[in-house]
Amino acid sequence: MSKPEKDPKAIAAARNVKSGSYPKCLLCPENEGYAGRVNHPARQNHRIIPITINDTPWGFQYSPYVYYNEHCIVFNCQHTPMKIERNAFIKLFDFVKLFPHYFLGSNADLPIVGGSILSHDHFQGGHYTFAMAKAPIEQHVVLPGFEDVEAGIVKWPLSVLRIRHKDSNRLVDLATHVLEVWRGYTDEEAFIYAETNGEPHNTITPIARKVGDTYELDLTLRNNITTEEHPLGVYHPHAEYHHIKKENIGLIEVMGLAVLPARLKGEMELLEEYILEGKDISSNEQIEKHAEWVKKFLPKYPEITKENIHGILQKEIGIVFTHVLEDAGVYKCTSEGREAFMRFLETL
Ligand SMILES: [Zn+2]
Repeated sequence: MSKPEKDPKAIAAARNVKSGSYPKCLLCPENEGYAGRVNHPARQNHRIIPITINDTPWGFQYSPYVYYNEHCIVFNCQHTPMKIERNAFIKLFDFVKLFPHYFLGSNADLPIVGGSILSHDHFQGGHYTFAMAKAPIEQHVVLPGFEDVEAGIVKWPLSVLRIRHKDSNRLVDLATHVLEVWRGYTDEEAFIYAETNGEPHNTITPIARKVGDTYELDLTLRNNITTEEHPLGVYHPHAEYHHIKKENIGLIEVMGLAVLPARLKGEMELLEEYILEGKDISSNEQIEKHAEWVKKFLPKYPEITKENIHGILQKEIGIVFTHVLEDAGVYKCTSEGREAFMRFLETL
């Protein structure tokens, strides 16, 4: 369950807020031991482990939200904005070298496709294997100048280039090249625009890990363009899925773990009751938004009982989540989508 729930537009608005308050944000080191106040949570028993990342002071802490095992946050001791650049890749690997059994990833640095805090440079990691890490490379590619680096498209609903090498410096060099080319890349046929009206759209959600003696970096291509048809984002959950998930597809969702709005818990309990008793779902304003969805999947299950209804709803939510991830993919898992992905890779 996502905590707290945030609207993508509120996140974008908060990005550039200059705050004179103390601490400046929820990630600043000043939170350690802070007593809290009406509009800022108490952190009296919060402790930070100092570490050195890219030759600068950083902090390591466990997340107060714990979405998965040993969910940690690694943050710059300076209150400075998130930026995906060469240094970000260096920082990811500096951490993975300190904690080789932890992955570390970064949210993208643009609104809509980023995380909930863009104003403070930070990463998220942990001791957990996500579905994405288990997904294989479906098509290998050889990139000029980087023939020694294993590279390929990952079998995954989002658009992911995986690169692997025993020397992390080779991955930093290649990732920087991919990022620089992607930032300026436009392919109108695939509806990829590097910028519109001076607003940049292309960025990357990177995830670093070590597998055996090999470093691995997943580069998830993101684009935050909006249109009249999709005002929250073309590569964002589309309106038909907003009854389940409307929020940003950030790092954790990219890796395949569904962080869903907490409201769903109560709504699904109510929905179970309505389905079992054959009541009209659209008559209840709390769950009427789910009526179309239920109508579509119900015929798949000839026998719905008190015992299996919970499992059926979980399964169907999982199917919606898969579609949400497909929406977030800039290249679709179709032959046209893969051809467009290869067009980009050829420009590298
Ligand atoms: Zn901060």
